Amino acid sequence: MLIGTHVSQAGGLDKAIGRGVERGCESIQIFNQSPRMWRPTRYGPDDFAAFRAAMADSPIRAVLIHAVYLINCASEDPEIRSKSLASLKQSLHVGDGIGADVVLHPGSALRGHVGEAIRRAGAVFREALAESERSMLLLEDTAGAGGTLGRSFEELQALLEAAGGGDRLGVCLDSCHLLASGYDVRTAAGLTETLDCFDEIVGLDRLGAVHLNDSQTPLGSNRDRHANLGEGELGEEGCVAFLSEPRFEQMAVVLETPGPDKRGTTAEEIAYAKRLRSRGLKARA
Ligand SMILES: [Zn+2]
Ligand SMILES: [Zn+2]
Repeated sequence: MLIGTHVSQAGGLDKAIGRGVERGCESIQIFNQSPRMWRPTRYGPDDFAAFRAAMADSPIRAVLIHAVYLINCASEDPEIRSKSLASLKQSLHVGDGIGADVVLHPGSALRGHVGEAIRRAGAVFREALAESERSMLLLEDTAGAGGTLGRSFEELQALLEAAGGGDRLGVCLDSCHLLASGYDVRTAAGLTETLDCFDEIVGLDRLGAVHLNDSQTPLGSNRDRHANLGEGELGEEGCVAFLSEPRFEQMAVVLETPGPDKRGTTAEEIAYAKRLRSRGLKARA
């Protein structure tokens, strides 16, 4: 398991590596541009080479790119879909350049038929994949109000199928989103059952990464509010279950917590996660 966190890419992609190292990360997640604007940051071969060199000299073994929040591949508005496609293509292009997989929220459709929203999103995913080379596209399970796609394993599977079901499609599971969407992952037994269910509906071979966040809101609340590890509804026991889960063994497990001062996950919290991992592994041994 490669424990890490989301870090800033401000000042250049390679700067993210140093920020991950400072926090004791074994993996990192970055945005490939400012997450609240459509305007892309252009990177060239030198930026990618600098990133790869910095990573090779570091203990960081896996990188995720989180696509920007504005993307909505399921939108009924063709202009939003075309901007979403351009932005997703750029994320996958940077992913190809630095050897990262791309995490994406599948989208939402406030009106109309869910099946049609899934088909619209699938078409955008397919086109973005066709115009990039290697990078995996990981659809993240979500939490939110009606219209948010990807809250259930059935819906994730429908999205993967709509996207063509190819080898470069996968899933990123977020512990906070699972809990808020009604999957009881607060104990090792609950997590085991949830992953068995995921395996049956989607297939564990599709699982590409994990986000570990505690949740400010309770089971089935349909609200996405991340909490620091051990301080929310998932609790320490739930965090230990995720951190010692054998099926996450080779995977990047990335924290996206608010941190003590709302400035993101700290080195102390990464160290805490590593202690919880050791505790869980000892208990399972
Ligand atoms: Zn997440
Ligand atoms: Zn979230």
